[in-house]
Amino acid sequence: MQDLSPVSSQSCGPPGSFPAVGDYHLHLHPHDPYPGAPDPGEYPDGLIEAYVEAAAARGVTELGFSEHLYRCVEAAPILGRFWETDPTIPASVAGATEAFVPAEQNLSLESYVAAVLGAKERGLPVLLGLEIDFFPENLDAVLDLIDPYPWDYLIGSVHWVGGWAVDSSATQGEFERRGPEQAHDDYYRTLTALAGSGAVDVLGHVDLTKKYGYRLEAEPLHWYRRVAAAASLSTTAVEINTNGLRLPASELYPSPAFLAECAAAEVDIVVGSDAHRPADAGRGYGSAIEAATAAGYEHRVRFARRTRTKVPLIGSHDPNE
Ligand SMILES: [Zn+2]
Ligand SMILES: [Zn+2]
Repeated sequence: MQDLSPVSSQSCGPPGSFPAVGDYHLHLHPHDPYPGAPDPGEYPDGLIEAYVEAAAARGVTELGFSEHLYRCVEAAPILGRFWETDPTIPASVAGATEAFVPAEQNLSLESYVAAVLGAKERGLPVLLGLEIDFFPENLDAVLDLIDPYPWDYLIGSVHWVGGWAVDSSATQGEFERRGPEQAHDDYYRTLTALAGSGAVDVLGHVDLTKKYGYRLEAEPLHWYRRVAAAASLSTTAVEINTNGLRLPASELYPSPAFLAECAAAEVDIVVGSDAHRPADAGRGYGSAIEAATAAGYEHRVRFARRTRTKVPLIGSHDPNE
């Protein structure tokens, strides 16, 4: 890996003041514990520092944390038992969501915010973000809940279409039950509504349906264009999420064709690893930069208190990292 010194430009301040290489999708708690993982809701000394160190070893020197809001106990009353109120899903699909969500609701929004703000106060190059799930009916209540906190940016994601987790290995059969076209229409209609809402700063892993390798015969370019157009109108950025490289999808989110539509619509980008442990912080950054460059991007955006600035992409990453 080559040395990746901060790039100097008018938009990112004096050299070294705040590095231009950022990973904007980081979680501090895993879904499946790893050896040495923090207990749910705990932020032991050194946890955030471990992410900073692992990312720095990959030349990534700005870390945006984006914990899942659905995992925070404060959000549970708003989200409700949403798998029970979707009449379109079979009991097995509702049951899979029921088996997953309540068990994951073991973080505290208050403690998470305090941990990241504490790291900021210690001088670490971190940003306070959040990954929120999009359910149209409770969007306003979610935004009210999180309004008191000093977010640098919000990621909006569609993991659930109604009560169906599109990214769960347990419910991949739903693609066939709905029919592949219909299943993708259902996902992308929800994503397009999120993109058009203007409620978030960044759209997360925009073609998440491919996570376990399920794909339409031909990519749904018409949906890519609609998502990109909606994001462009609402000035919502799209993330290049490298986690797909480590999953059966074996590809970045979004695909090259989707990213090309985003570029054509002049949608801004950020990069995120979707790490859920320190060792993955900054992973795949080089591949993301390579894909962005191939799509014609020369800049990504950075956020501070929900205000964006364009900064140069850095093109000298080792794509194998
Ligand atoms: Zn996660
Ligand atoms: Zn996500």
